[in-house]
Amino acid sequence: MSGEQFSDPFEVQRLAMVELQLRQRGIRDERVLNAMARVPRHLFVSSEKQSRAYEDQPLEIESGQTVSQPYIVAAMLQALELKESDRVLEIGTGSGYLTAILAELAAQVFTVERQVLLHQRAKERVEQLGYRNVVFTLGDGSQGFPEHAPYDAMIVSAAAPRIPQALRDQLADPGRLIIPVGSEDTQQLLLARKNQGMERVEVLDGCRFVPLIGSQGFPV
Ligand code: SAH
Repeated sequence: MSGEQFSDPFEVQRLAMVELQLRQRGIRDERVLNAMARVPRHLFVSSEKQSRAYEDQPLEIESGQTVSQPYIVAAMLQALELKESDRVLEIGTGSGYLTAILAELAAQVFTVERQVLLHQRAKERVEQLGYRNVVFTLGDGSQGFPEHAPYDAMIVSAAAPRIPQALRDQLADPGRLIIPVGSEDTQQLLLARKNQGMERVEVLDGCRFVPLIGSQGFPV
């Protein structure tokens, strides 16, 4: 196969990422795999990092933050079992990479970022790619986004000392929430399910995320 038939020069690398880093490592959810085959990860990092955008690692973005490793993104999304009709809350917009994938998988995405530069850049990128089902806001996501609650699903890409009560309160019933919880250095990925007023929490894996900084996160 010649690369010339691809209009996006990174498409070959992106499809290889999906096969080798995701499918062969146990990601089975075809909707997640298809969405990650479509979203151009290289457009969410600075131009000098574009050639590394499809490697098996997190990458630095602006303001000392990181875009998560593709496998972690896929594993979180597979566990979240998003439906096309879901309204999703994302905390920690960062580069907007996960936001774009969520926009492929759900009906509406609401995303909160505390750093103004990241918020603005992510909004520009995601809108330029043509996604029209995302609401961006600047603020402390440890308090959720009460204006649009409740949410069928929530995904937090920054680590919290515990599950913020505001997120529990803004989760629909039934609803699912995925969040890394632990210390600033090391955490466990938790999947909380709300059903008929009851919460069940499952530990998925060990992980390492940047801290969630805010009133219900870590101090500034
Ligand atoms: N999913 C993102 C990963 C971003 S890293 C991506 O695909 O690029 C986590 C992000 O959470 C950082 O941008 C950080 O600024 C943000 N963050 C940390 N605390 C926050 C808070 N209280 N509210 C909103 N965003 C927060």
